[in-house]
Amino acid sequence: MEEVKLKARAKINLGLDVIKRREDGYHEVKMIMQTVDIYDSLSIRRTDKPGIFIRANLKNVPTDERNLIYKAAALFMKTYPIQGGVSIHLKKMIPIAAGMAGGSADAAATFVGMNQLLHLEIAEEQLRSLAVSIGADVPYCIMGGTALSEGIGERLTPLPQPPSCYLVIAKPNIYVSTRYVYEHLHANEITDHPDIDAIITAIKEQNLVHMAAHMENVLERVTAVEHPIIETLKSRMVSAGAIRALMSGSGPTVFGIFETKEMAQRAYKVIQQENLAKQIFLTTFTSGEMRDDRR
Ligand code: ATP
Repeated sequence: MEEVKLKARAKINLGLDVIKRREDGYHEVKMIMQTVDIYDSLSIRRTDKPGIFIRANLKNVPTDERNLIYKAAALFMKTYPIQGGVSIHLKKMIPIAAGMAGGSADAAATFVGMNQLLHLEIAEEQLRSLAVSIGADVPYCIMGGTALSEGIGERLTPLPQPPSCYLVIAKPNIYVSTRYVYEHLHANEITDHPDIDAIITAIKEQNLVHMAAHMENVLERVTAVEHPIIETLKSRMVSAGAIRALMSGSGPTVFGIFETKEMAQRAYKVIQQENLAKQIFLTTFTSGEMRDDRR
């Protein structure tokens, strides 16, 4: 039976600013999104039995309607009705509740994968506008690569990929609630905003050092104050040679940017030896390509 396999890739934020809190409670953001080479694997098949059947390799991922894959598949089938149902297998590698948009990436891969499986040829733009109701980051995850994300995350402008470098990404073993972080930010009182435009200029000029110098995440002002491990991880990465280290999204994941693999390996070892994070990756920037050629 036909099966579609995809890589649902994680993102980090090279810059994250919150412009304001709107009357309706949503926050307007200005963020630089960047796909990294860490991914969940999804395989999708049709079933004769109607429904959405999810299996996952980890016990702590819900496989019912709470899973964003389920929500995406349900919305897709409501918009484009099919006979029978779908079975989706998820192999989770992206840290959960980490600020790396793992659930959103899975939802994005579900939209793209179902479009392929059913040979519908729906345009990416149409998929993205359908996807926004599942989550603000899902349209970006469909697009992938490097992008400026504005509005509540739905206004996307593609950017060139930054110069290549090595990344160490570390997720400490603490839980951070995204909602809590945004609520405690007091967005309308922020006066010193990150210079997101300077990051964009540096990316366009392919200047890694300037890009790193302007990297800032306004949400650190809540998460890092409450969780000192974030500053510890950042300082270990910088001591090991990172040009800059930053928290991704609402945290608690921290990433460092390194010019050489040796320095990145050194940072990886230090974090591992000091037991500062359970999940550590040495990786790179990548495009948003979802194709998975494994058989
Ligand atoms: P973001 O960067 O968008 O804030 P995140 O990395 O903080 O995302 P996720 O890993 O996407 O958070 O998931 C947060 C919660 O959503 C988890 O606690 C989990 O129970 C639930 N969830 C629903 N679907 C998924 C999924 N496919 N993968 C992981 N978690 C999921």
